[in-house]
Amino acid sequence: MTAPTLILPERSRAIASDLRAALGADKVKDDYSTLTAYAVDASIYRMTPQAVVLVESEEDIAVTMRYAVQRGIPLTPRAAGTNLTGSAIGSGIILDVSRLNRVLELNCEERRARVQPGIVLAELNKHLGRHGLLFGPDPSSGDMCKLGGMLANNSSGPHTLRYGAVKDNVEALRVCLQSGEWIDAKSYRLDDPDCANLLKTHRQLLDLQLLLQENATLIAQKRPTVSKNSCGYNLFGLADGLERDRFDLPKLFVGSEGTLGLFSEATIKLVEKPRATLTALIHFHRLEDVGDAVPKLLELSPSALEVMDANTLNLIGRARHGIPADAAATLLVELDADVAGIELRAQAERMTEICRRYRLTSDPVIAFDPEQRDQLWKARKALYPTLYRFDPKKKPINFVDDVVVPAERISELIRYLEEFFAGQRVPVAIFGHIGNGNAHIIPLLDVNDEVDFQKMVQGYHEIHQTILGRFGGSICGEHGDGRVRAEYVKTMFGQELYDLFVRVKQSFDPSGVLNPGIKISDRPFTDHIDYMRLSKPCATCAKCNAVCPVYDVFQSEDMSSRGWFEIVTDKNYSYLNSKRVVEACLNCKSCRTACPAGVDVSQLILDRRAENPNKMAGVIFRFHAQTDKFERLLKFLAKYQSIWDRPLIRRLLDRLTKPFMRGLAETARLSPQLVLPRLAQRHLRNRYPELIPQAGQAARSPVAYFHGCAANYFDDGVGDAVIAVLRKHGVEPDLPPQRCSGTPIETYGHRALAREGARVNLVSMAGYDKVVTGCASCTLMLKDYPTLFAGEPEQAAAQALAKRVTHISEFVSQSPVKPAMASQQLTKCKVAYHSSCHLRAAGVTKEPRAILRGLPGFEYVEMPDADRCAGGAGTYLVKDFETSQRIVERKRLAVEQSGAEIVATSCPACMIQLRTGLQGVAEVKHVAQLLQDAYEAADRS
Ligand SMILES: Cc1cc2nc3c(=O)[nH]c(=O)nc-3n(C[C@H](O)[C@H](O)[C@H](O)COP(=O)(O)OP(=O)(O)OC[C@H]3O[C@@H](n4cnc5c(N)ncnc54)[C@H](O)[C@@H]3O)c2cc1C
Ligand code: SF4
Ligand code: SF4
Repeated sequence: MTAPTLILPERSRAIASDLRAALGADKVKDDYSTLTAYAVDASIYRMTPQAVVLVESEEDIAVTMRYAVQRGIPLTPRAAGTNLTGSAIGSGIILDVSRLNRVLELNCEERRARVQPGIVLAELNKHLGRHGLLFGPDPSSGDMCKLGGMLANNSSGPHTLRYGAVKDNVEALRVCLQSGEWIDAKSYRLDDPDCANLLKTHRQLLDLQLLLQENATLIAQKRPTVSKNSCGYNLFGLADGLERDRFDLPKLFVGSEGTLGLFSEATIKLVEKPRATLTALIHFHRLEDVGDAVPKLLELSPSALEVMDANTLNLIGRARHGIPADAAATLLVELDADVAGIELRAQAERMTEICRRYRLTSDPVIAFDPEQRDQLWKARKALYPTLYRFDPKKKPINFVDDVVVPAERISELIRYLEEFFAGQRVPVAIFGHIGNGNAHIIPLLDVNDEVDFQKMVQGYHEIHQTILGRFGGSICGEHGDGRVRAEYVKTMFGQELYDLFVRVKQSFDPSGVLNPGIKISDRPFTDHIDYMRLSKPCATCAKCNAVCPVYDVFQSEDMSSRGWFEIVTDKNYSYLNSKRVVEACLNCKSCRTACPAGVDVSQLILDRRAENPNKMAGVIFRFHAQTDKFERLLKFLAKYQSIWDRPLIRRLLDRLTKPFMRGLAETARLSPQLVLPRLAQRHLRNRYPELIPQAGQAARSPVAYFHGCAANYFDDGVGDAVIAVLRKHGVEPDLPPQRCSGTPIETYGHRALAREGARVNLVSMAGYDKVVTGCASCTLMLKDYPTLFAGEPEQAAAQALAKRVTHISEFVSQSPVKPAMASQQLTKCKVAYHSSCHLRAAGVTKEPRAILRGLPGFEYVEMPDADRCAGGAGTYLVKDFETSQRIVERKRLAVEQSGAEIVATSCPACMIQLRTGLQGVAEVKHVAQLLQDAYEAADRS
């Protein structure tokens, strides 16, 4: 079926203005940045839409649907945009369901939940986990993909073996049909009066029932024989239902990829979380043995059975993941136990016994501990985007990525594919859900090169043909057809069944507006390939969106890390057309920590800001650099803080400073709600004159303390605590002359000024073995000086300094001295850790937690979202106080859930934000302060 010609209004801006009038201005966007961000999903395609609607209710969905149908405008629903097939991009309206992200109802007894489509799978499972429950289907993209996309794609994942695909776990859907009417799509008994009523009022449902009855034999003949299939419409599931006297409507809509209707909620089936789980990595010497071992391992009823072939292991880096050089394939096996303990260990022994029959390159690595198990899964889950690191030109291209063959023939498939790609001289990664015979095949190609392009086209046809002919398999196990496989759906099922698919599509979507070009289309798969993007380093996997605090708040792709990558690397980018979004990033670096492809979006944004430094910030930072004058002002302010920091005067100050603040950002203000730190009347350096070397004097200690601005100027006890802790560990530190590390200065685009201060720091910190920090941002900035001085004469010195920078928590963990500790309080106190983003980006995550675990008198609790940004990010809480408070809200809920009375952190800036956001919930302390208390309590006892 060729997509019908759709009418577009002559002036495309009219779409957004019409929709704005109908839905309200905040829900409709059509500016350059938004359209650029929504032009991609995680596929190889690009299509720029005309408008984006961020729906917040069923009414919004229905209004948008009616408008699109009336005007003949393509309408593409979208959730997280992580599909690999191009099914969440379109040329008309994108209807983003991300803001519909609540669990509406949870029935623990009956193990079911009513959930909205914008909820992220990981968030859903976190919520359910608190009740010992789980939604079973688990695509590897679970940290970022959302329920709407999972439903529409019939997603599944490594644990399909145990829990099935989405289609097996859905009881009902609320579906908006083309008419704008809603139906409850559930499994109706045929004699249910509601069913009869539905058939009477919705002609397309009656047509569907007749089509199924009239073509029962054809449908039975064409049913895929492999264990998984997401190709075409699931008429097979509907036919099964009819045999049981049921009109099983979810079977039609699950997997329909937004081409038949739009979902506003789903009633999903839940399962109990396994009590205990074992994960094992088994490295095989011979590929053939893998195929032989699979049926035997399946006898153990594993919940997951994954394979990675030799090429995949090479591409992800064997050494990095501890994979033996001679492994021809690695299996990842997971076994669940509903009763903890012995049973699982016995299973582990049986598994080892099975494996002993084969030539393994080493003993199986078996993990029971959740953290170790996560490590084993980490490489597998991030595999696809990790492949982006392999070559600057040859990128992993998803075009034959999701085939299914009988599980016992998986070795034969891998052998065939390895030979095929070896013949083409194309590197390829083959991995997947071997227990279901579902293989993901990701060749690395430069699609901008004509020869590689032809290899892609040849591979597409030959491999799919072989899967269907020789293996009797399916071309699509779980990722959906989208644009990439639509061309081949007819070949998979034959003309007759394909005609039935077309009839279904026409009956539900007569005007052809619903996600045209997807699933039912004869457009070649090479249409709309994004050649430009495929030469860039970003895999568009959206893993960064999952950790981006701004995306968390706005749920809109133009306000997200992935979107910002698209915008700032787009050929039409200019600061003027994108200022709104470029200035919205917190520079928290969470995206950089999360990105498997090694992209640093925050750095790209800083590069763009450096092209347009903020004038007002320049004035402030230049004054800041005149240390004497600046400190005199601070001391003056400190003296009178008890007067000007009163609520009434703060409100006045907020008003008076507004025009000045606007110079920093439209949103900037000195909110009276912001709990300001007490300014020190005697700065840290004045309090410890004995630690300050004379001008020109060489290092007197092996350790310098880089206190940064906050510890010097604030009377928050952090600087004193760091010095006290160092002394307890036998170190009398130097406090050499120092300037601001540069983080806030660079954040406002003043790179030259940041370098100026950094040069001072490079010189004064040069003679020390260790440069100890107490501030997360200073730690990262000093470690990042090599990037700040990239290609500059100072780079070598910057690299040398970066190696010596040590956060106080690292210093304590490495110290051979173990001072006595005691508790200050009589009863145990719960302490949680907020892991500052910049310290995480600097690679320091375990040490602060280890310290807290070891503190007497405290019970350490790992709070949910400990590794998420709290929204402070240095000066962000001044730049955009409202957004920063929306970000910290999530942290507040996490702290409440954990029951922590104290939240410890490693960053003075986070402390300001947490003290503002956690008022009345918990006390906030620096890790060094808690250590100091414990050491001093021991001294006293
Ligand atoms: C690194 C990586 C790993 C992956 N691993 C897996 C895996 O293991 N298994 C797997 O199955 N997939 C996997 N995927 C593919 C993808 O993540 C899944 O298909 C996922 O379920 C898509 O969800 P989404 O929220 O991103 O949906 P989107 O990409 O936004 O949309 C997917 C489809 O759903 C439609 N849609 C969205 N919301 C609605 C709605 N409310 N009503 C109607 N239609 C709607 C869209 O139009 C589109 O057709 C992976 C992707 C990546 C990038
Ligand atoms: S920047 Fe990294 S994490 Fe973000 S979408 Fe691109 S590859 Fe994925
Ligand atoms: S630095 Fe933080 S706010 Fe900015 S894009 Fe990355 S995750 Fe988002």
